[in-house]
Amino acid sequence: MKIGVDLGGSKILSILADYSDGSKKIRVLKQFQCETEADKGETKVVENIVKAIKAVMPEHESPEMIGIASAGNPYNGRMYGMNNFNIRDGFALEAKLKKFFPNITIKMDNDVNCFALAEHLHFQKPNLIGITLGTGVGGGIIINHKLYGGTRNSAGEFGHMVIVADGEKCTCERKGCFEEYCSARALERYYLKLAGGKKPAAEITLGKNANSKKAIAEFGKYLGIALANIANIFDPDIIVIGGGLSNIRGLMQYARDGVKDAKFLGRKVRIEKSFFGSISPAIGAIML
Ligand SMILES: [Zn+2]
Repeated sequence: MKIGVDLGGSKILSILADYSDGSKKIRVLKQFQCETEADKGETKVVENIVKAIKAVMPEHESPEMIGIASAGNPYNGRMYGMNNFNIRDGFALEAKLKKFFPNITIKMDNDVNCFALAEHLHFQKPNLIGITLGTGVGGGIIINHKLYGGTRNSAGEFGHMVIVADGEKCTCERKGCFEEYCSARALERYYLKLAGGKKPAAEITLGKNANSKKAIAEFGKYLGIALANIANIFDPDIIVIGGGLSNIRGLMQYARDGVKDAKFLGRKVRIEKSFFGSISPAIGAIML
């Protein structure tokens, strides 16, 4: 038995699952969720992670490992790029957790890498690209059945691929990044421009009125451009789309139409929605 934890900006999700390395199946036995309380600082976040792990701990045995899927770029047991969480660069999360669980192996990776691993378990394709759409845009790359992390375990930042020259200013300081066109704030911006009033992304995604549908179409157009670029670069078997915004009504059709425009590729790349949904990163953490 193994424990997977998804450490997110607002929530921590933990699962206990029956899984052995190399197996093509996973069985989730227990699941728990609590608040991250990132605003209360590192000590509180660690306390909540420990709480989430203990909540799914098997009663009569010790789990083989604990995998942590986290935002940012965990590297060598330390956290990086988690400024939004009030967690400083280099924070030794693995060592902190080891104090509570000294005899259990702890592994950590980026949440979107974990997402890609989980979806790979289900789809079993050698070359898979995972894209998550939510507050931001994340990416994970699987090449020949193996996660590709790059030199600093930071590969797959598709969100910061420029798709519009001189476009919207991004948080990374560049202009026209994919993330500025296919995130929750982008959807809200399209809606505001069309309707002249604000609506939260979660409502727009339902596509219940003409302006919501138009905003979704705008979002879908840019998603298609980005996916066609990714398809042309990687020639993957499959691109799997997850994250909260993957539930946008009609989005998969826009995604598929967009990739069809990648004519250079000469064939269709399969586009699918996440199989494991919101527990996908926690499942992937178990596979680390
Ligand atoms: Zn950017």
